[in-house]
Order: sequence, then C-alpha cells, then structure tokens
Amino acid sequence: MSENKGCNCCGDIVDLTIISNDTNKCPICKQEGKKVKNVTVRHLVKDEYETSVDSSNYSICMNENCDTVYYSENNKVQFSKEQIKVSIWFKKEADPRYACYCSKVTIDQVKEAVKDKGAQKMKDVLAITGAMRNSNCEIKNPLGVCCHEAIQQAIDEALAE
Ligand SMILES: [Zn+2]
Repeated sequence: MSENKGCNCCGDIVDLTIISNDTNKCPICKQEGKKVKNVTVRHLVKDEYETSVDSSNYSICMNENCDTVYYSENNKVQFSKEQIKVSIWFKKEADPRYACYCSKVTIDQVKEAVKDKGAQKMKDVLAITGAMRNSNCEIKNPLGVCCHEAIQQAIDEALAE
C-alpha cells in the first residue's frame, strides 16, 4: 500500500500515506496500530467516556483478536470494544460489520450487490447500496478515513468467492 490514491468522496482529500509509516504499538497485544485523529476518538467513544479522552494523539489496534480499540500515544488512556459506540468491522465477532459507517451499509450488503445484483465496480455498488451518500467519515468511521477502501476490499472478496 505505497500508492497514495487519496479520495475526495468526503469533499476532503485523505492522505493514506500517514497510516503506513506508523510504528505505534498496541499496549495490550503489541501489534502495530494505525494513527487516528483525536476528533474521531472523541466522537466514537460512548458518551460516558468522552471526558476520558485527553488531548494526545491516538492509534487504533488493527488486531482482530484484540479487544483494545483506541489507545493514546503515551498508553495512558485505552478504550476497549465495549467502550465504543459502533462495532469495529475488522474485530472478531463484530456485528454489524459496516463497510460504510456514514450510510450504514454493511460488508454483506456490498457483497450481495456484487453476487446477486451484478455489480462489478465501485459505482455500481454505490448506486445499489447507497453507500457513501452521506459521507462524514472523520467522525463516523472508526479509522476516521473514507470507507472507499473497505468497500473496494469487500467487492474484491465477493468477486473472488
Ligand atoms: Zn491490540
């Protein structure tokens, strides 16, 4: 993933290269996480935990088997799956598994569009499912980035199945 395609579906160019250079490790499973914006964490933790979000930088643990979701740079603050408002699609037993959090379209709906409704390309899937219609990825998507990549991955998987 060295190519930076960016994405302007949110009216905002997302710089995907920030993510791949990160070396911040999850305090629990010690795997490398991805950086997320403070504003994303602030919006996605349950209301009762909002005051626990300090002003530091946060990362998200990408390990599907780890219950930790967000952790601060100094590891002082951590949030587990149960403390987040939405299910994190790549974590084990996530339900529902959203590909697009803004328009609440699941990975299964994307796959269904490909397998049962003949969608082949991104634009077909978006037309059928309504994904990315109300984009507000910075505060709706747990990674704070555009869901374009997750949708494309689901399309590729469905085409290969
Ligand atoms: Zn972890």
